[in-house]
Amino acid sequence: MKADPESPWLLAGRNRTVAISGSRITADVDASTEVDVRALDLYPGFIDQHCHGGGGGTFSTTDASEVAAAIHFHRGCGTTSIMASLVSAPTSELISQIETLMPFVDSQELIGIHLEGPWISPRFAGAHDPDSLRGPTTEELRALLHSAQGAIRMVTVAPELPGALDAIAQLVAADVTVAIGHTACNPEQARAAVDRGASVVTHAFNAMPGVHHRDPGPLPWLLAQDTVFIELIADGLHVHPDVLRLTTKAIGERRGIAVTDAMAAAGCCDGEYRLGDQRVQVKDGAARLFDESTLAGSTLTMDAAVRFLSSRCELPLSEAVTFATRNPAAALSLRDRGSLDAGMRADVVGFDSQGYVQLVVHGGTVLTSSA
Ligand SMILES: [Zn+2]
Repeated sequence: MKADPESPWLLAGRNRTVAISGSRITADVDASTEVDVRALDLYPGFIDQHCHGGGGGTFSTTDASEVAAAIHFHRGCGTTSIMASLVSAPTSELISQIETLMPFVDSQELIGIHLEGPWISPRFAGAHDPDSLRGPTTEELRALLHSAQGAIRMVTVAPELPGALDAIAQLVAADVTVAIGHTACNPEQARAAVDRGASVVTHAFNAMPGVHHRDPGPLPWLLAQDTVFIELIADGLHVHPDVLRLTTKAIGERRGIAVTDAMAAAGCCDGEYRLGDQRVQVKDGAARLFDESTLAGSTLTMDAAVRFLSSRCELPLSEAVTFATRNPAAALSLRDRGSLDAGMRADVVGFDSQGYVQLVVHGGTVLTSSA
């Protein structure tokens, strides 16, 4: 399938036609070139705001080829916008990793950097190295933000840590999206974080207290807040499908965000991998620390997450797609992504009738097509 990238062209799908000019979607539908993909339904490209790697590459690295491998792998699965998530590490290591990632942010290959640590709870460290966890200080925060020159777009914080609420306010003032996660906080501490501008829950249910009817933990309060976006790892392993279904019904269409939390093994064979400094064993696609119980990210891809939400959690496909497109765009204030309206980046995926992605258009360039 070919389209001249210089002149406007039409991508004609089953559910809609998208007009593309250069790297943008245009309102001008008067193009002479039409690419017929009427076997496919067209939706915006996916936005994955929580991803550690894939295709054998990790973002916690100083090797740019690993970063490129991860971006390339996920893009082929329909993720046209990807955030690089970093696990906890000493400040100097984080700065080296940030410096490796920054050229990819500058060239818009990445939408930004997500610091998932180190300001998280040792009780809910998950696969983060417990020796790297600490409370936030103004100096460290300033050093990291300064080194990244605007590339840090999201930070996960445990609100109960000393200094965390001040750090949240400082991050929000610097236009960084603050997520609550890897936390032992109670509802009052969650509320204090939201009052200071926290607006996302990092992989809800994972690495935080569970929900008990007399001891609810932070989640029921957070799920009920209209201003808070809820990340969900929709692989059926991190959260039971019944809980995903209940959660999606509770939060409605506009606040759920599908994330992969994928690590290097996504798209690769079972075996031994690393997540930051931690050794990870992947068996039957499930990534765990060598304690054989702690989940260590996933091998999920966004197309599979969307398919899982629609097939196993009974969300209509179009709604599952909003969890992977419009909602993360809103959470991260990405103004030109997440929809197929005129003026948006020409990032498009095409689904076949089984819910499999058969077409990926990235910035107006057709990458994958079996249509
Ligand atoms: Zn993660």
